[in-house]
Amino acid sequence: MGKNRKFQSIDLKKVMKSKPIVKVIDLTNFSFHTLPSEGDTVEKCYANTFGNCHGGISREHYISENILKQLDTIKSNGIPWLKHLNKNLSANSLTVKSLCERHNSYLSPLDSFAGEFFKEVKGFAEAKLRITIVNGHLLELWLLKVLIGLISTNQLTHKGVQLNSTDIPQEWVEILFGEKSFKSGTGLYISYDVGDKVALGNKISIGPIYLHGKLCGLTANIAGLRLLLSMVEKNAAFNRSHPKYEKTLYRFERLRKQNQPQEIIFKW
Ligand SMILES: [Zn+2]
Repeated sequence: MGKNRKFQSIDLKKVMKSKPIVKVIDLTNFSFHTLPSEGDTVEKCYANTFGNCHGGISREHYISENILKQLDTIKSNGIPWLKHLNKNLSANSLTVKSLCERHNSYLSPLDSFAGEFFKEVKGFAEAKLRITIVNGHLLELWLLKVLIGLISTNQLTHKGVQLNSTDIPQEWVEILFGEKSFKSGTGLYISYDVGDKVALGNKISIGPIYLHGKLCGLTANIAGLRLLLSMVEKNAAFNRSHPKYEKTLYRFERLRKQNQPQEIIFKW
């Protein structure tokens, strides 16, 4: 007994070959072209104060079409301000005419980025061996574009007061077009809780946030990630008004799944 027992030898080469290869996805490389300094002033374009509009007013998806086409159905009940409709929507119904052709096309890298980012977050739940590197500023800017787009729909109301495109702060537009930077403490936060289980999936919902009656940011659930874009510095008053968002991290650096190799790393 035992004498002739054979142990299967380990083929090291084979083990090395089957070792999972971690794929790196780079979502940092989206560049903007330079805008000409001269042009027209298109009345309904919210970037018309730059004086370099061109091509007339155009239609844009305020939640990027690149995301909308990844969703099976778009239910209005995931979109708070359309609650009363409670029916399936088409991507085309979520459009607004608030930018001229030139300014719309200038911001299109943000929509390409958003589509890729959404795909990566969705895939994060599955055991995919990948590391995704994200430019955090692009995510911040895209959410700002969504927020400004929402105001442009003329469908946001707060305590009976309807907001329209004249309520878009000029500073936000300047940040969106790279003329200014986010002030310290403003920008992107992620909401967390101890022992939080994040249910990732094929969904998106967004909603405006108000502080002292003033629109000051956006909440966004992107495939299960609870994000907060705050255009005011978060402080005690903010936490009292939005206790749900008390536990948030500013410009977070990474998302990691326990005991899994996949990661989303945010570069700032
Ligand atoms: Zn324009």
